[in-house]
Amino acid sequence: MSEQLNDTVVLNHNKTEILQDNKSLEKGQPVTKKRVDRRPKVVILGAGFGGTNAAASLSNSDMDVLVIDRNNYHGFWPLLYQVATAGLEPQSVAYPVRGLLRKYVNVDFQLNEVTGVNLENKQVITQDELIEYDYLILSAGSANSYFGNKSLARETLGLKDLDDASRLRNRLLESFELAVREQDPVKRAKLLTFVVIGGGPTGVELSGAISELIRHVLNKDYPSLDVYKARVILLEALPKILGTFRDSLQQKALHTLEKMGVEVRLGIPVETVENGRIRLKDGNEIEANTIVWAAGVRSAEIADSLGVELARQARVPVEPTLQLKDHPEVFVIGDMAYLEGFKEKQAYPMVAPVAIQMGKLAGANVLALQHNRPLAKFKYFDKGNMATIGRRNAIFDAFGIHMSGLPAWLSWLFVHLMSLVGFRNRLIVLMNWAYNYFTYDRGARLITGKKR
Ligand SMILES: Cc1cc2nc3c(=O)[nH]c(=O)nc-3n(C[C@H](O)[C@H](O)[C@H](O)COP(=O)(O)OP(=O)(O)OC[C@H]3O[C@@H](n4cnc5c(N)ncnc54)[C@H](O)[C@@H]3O)c2cc1C
Repeated sequence: MSEQLNDTVVLNHNKTEILQDNKSLEKGQPVTKKRVDRRPKVVILGAGFGGTNAAASLSNSDMDVLVIDRNNYHGFWPLLYQVATAGLEPQSVAYPVRGLLRKYVNVDFQLNEVTGVNLENKQVITQDELIEYDYLILSAGSANSYFGNKSLARETLGLKDLDDASRLRNRLLESFELAVREQDPVKRAKLLTFVVIGGGPTGVELSGAISELIRHVLNKDYPSLDVYKARVILLEALPKILGTFRDSLQQKALHTLEKMGVEVRLGIPVETVENGRIRLKDGNEIEANTIVWAAGVRSAEIADSLGVELARQARVPVEPTLQLKDHPEVFVIGDMAYLEGFKEKQAYPMVAPVAIQMGKLAGANVLALQHNRPLAKFKYFDKGNMATIGRRNAIFDAFGIHMSGLPAWLSWLFVHLMSLVGFRNRLIVLMNWAYNYFTYDRGARLITGKKR
């Protein structure tokens, strides 16, 4: 991309502006290169649902965009539980960020961990440099919240990215390998107890998938083990699971989970976990080798470095235009942002469609700000709620339609397949699903990463 400026040419060589002396160029002499006033720079933290959509809406604009992420992939988290339960390979639910962004000439990527933001100096702080910005879009997603309970943080496994999913898959499979050699029945029972804490969509989908893995696949892998003695327990502190769904669908999901062999315990908060022993508030204890935390979520930790007062779940309060109060050049979107308006006095939920729509608006509003145009307010197009519970079963609540069972499951499959980034990923996921469905097998049940 180039533009003519009298006898100089400003080359926007993929984000570098260089002033070239045309006369020197004509004479074949070495070119004097001087930096000119640079183009406005937008830094986007996070290449997730929000960040990539913000980058897309700023593509081919008159601004330089830098996307920073600690991972070099964009993750499709809604299918992460299938990676953790050996239904899908990790790479089929992720896409290289550079591959995603390379079609945008003004958008660059940096693999780096952001450790803070200096709002006054307009700098993003990374492990090894300070990166200046004119506009900043914060879309670093969410993190686990343990409500200050250190034992939960230490003893439970999370499910937030590909590393977490691989760790959980390893733990599930290793537990069976250890159990098959274990002579002590008490220790064997502990190895074969799998507890998921949190009855939201992730906890429900995960506990259903673990139970299916055990009953349909591992029972054949370990003929000497009575795998029906393996327990999958879902613990929820509230008296119901899937709080964001209507009552009838909650009941259907509960019934389906129980039919699949998941023990659902409602209304019992977890107090502590020590050496795999879960102490519940009602005084009961459960011993388990695998304990997954899917109960508490908060904004990504980077929110703490902003020095602003945070809202519920440590999310960052934003104006309806997604700008940070007192810092109009900073936009906060997706899971990090706290903006009421979803339902009365309720913030928009931490879900992918909110992040995608906020990403698009933040990009458009940065352009509007730069060009002195009025900024638009966030308007959400609600695509509803869905969750899958094992084979051929899901619940679906969208556009006034609520259903469960096979039609809901087929809708779930279609929506998730079409939302995946990349034709290759869609094809691989579709093939895996078909294979798993017809063979009752899970090809990805590998224990990896042991050398680290
Ligand atoms: C297991 C799971 C299942 C889910 N299922 C669903 C579902 O079925 N439907 C649905 O709508 N939503 C679902 N969600 C929620 C949905 O994924 C999020 O709402 C959405 O990803 C939010 O988008 P975001 O851009 O805010 O953050 P993300 O998409 O999470 O992206 C954040 C990015 O920031 C990067 N990052 C974070 N901190 C730093 C740092 N300090 N330095 C550098 N990079 C950093 C991360 O690596 C990540 O790539 C699920 C989430 C999880 C974890």
